[in-house]
Amino acid sequence: MENIFGITRKNLEQDFVSLGYKKFMASQVLDWLYKKRNYDVNMFSNIKNENREFLKKQYSFDLIRIEKVEEDTDVKKFLFRLIDGQKIEAVLMYHDYGLSLCVSSQVGCNMGCKFCESGRLKKVRNLETYEMVQQILLISDYVKSRIDSVVVMGIGEPFDNYDNVINFLSIINDDKLLAIGARHITVSTCGLVPKIREYADFPLQVNLAISLHAPNDEIRKKIMPIANAYSIKEVINAVNYYSNKTNRRVAMEYILLDGINDSVQCANELADLLKGVNAYVNLIPYNETSHIEYKASSEKQIKAFYDALKQRGVDATTRKRFGNKISAACGQLRSKEL
Ligand code: SF4
Repeated sequence: MENIFGITRKNLEQDFVSLGYKKFMASQVLDWLYKKRNYDVNMFSNIKNENREFLKKQYSFDLIRIEKVEEDTDVKKFLFRLIDGQKIEAVLMYHDYGLSLCVSSQVGCNMGCKFCESGRLKKVRNLETYEMVQQILLISDYVKSRIDSVVVMGIGEPFDNYDNVINFLSIINDDKLLAIGARHITVSTCGLVPKIREYADFPLQVNLAISLHAPNDEIRKKIMPIANAYSIKEVINAVNYYSNKTNRRVAMEYILLDGINDSVQCANELADLLKGVNAYVNLIPYNETSHIEYKASSEKQIKAFYDALKQRGVDATTRKRFGNKISAACGQLRSKEL
């Protein structure tokens, strides 16, 4: 039985019509779910009893569950229990410009990035579309506030679950559903080149972020196995294809690891690599975890790296450090639970 939260408005309308029901019932149902935030089909008072029975037989209205919340001043981290008992997490960040939610796209991840807690625990399965949609709905309900922007940057490689992620983007962008504007949605990939190109052709034109983390193949291969499949040059070519198609600037995510990728020489090499590329660099201080040997770069080193990029005319920002007191690194909360 298909979960109702994983179905786009258009598909639900088509479903109803093909099954002999009014197209309009889709708006009524979706209004209960996304506007009134009432997930109990028995309470859908403007829908006839017999139609409610049909809905119950045809679709699942099951919800994933918030199992644990860890909080710090500007961040809340949620551990979800899925219907089959698997666990994932999502992180809510309080920015000056609103609430931003980082959602997971898989249970575990097979990409094996050496610095990542989620990569240490292998992929169990892809998330279904409804499991991604519900992360937003349930957290929005929990904090009683609208989620302003979404980044698909939690556990998992979104482009390794491409179809479900694309479906998810259509649902959350729909102005009758979660109405999160394409400009406020970002999908982050470790660099699955064919999928970056496919994503560029996707009509929604959602933002793209690349987990780059190195200025050359040699360093990238040491910390990210995906670099053995696609060279940094191929990634940059795909990024150029995306930004030519969409006119959008791409975020290059760069986690600074002490003594690995944080030298001024690396910054200069990165500046060379990004020459003429419509991109900016988002420098991320590393959240150390007890299982992984890498250390965070010092504030001084981060500043030197940032200054070197700036001197070379590269647009760069340093991401605010979120939630030092809680398990803030991607996958840490889940890994602790397991
Ligand atoms: S950083 Fe992202 S792609 Fe790499 S292992 Fe972690 S979750 Fe997977």
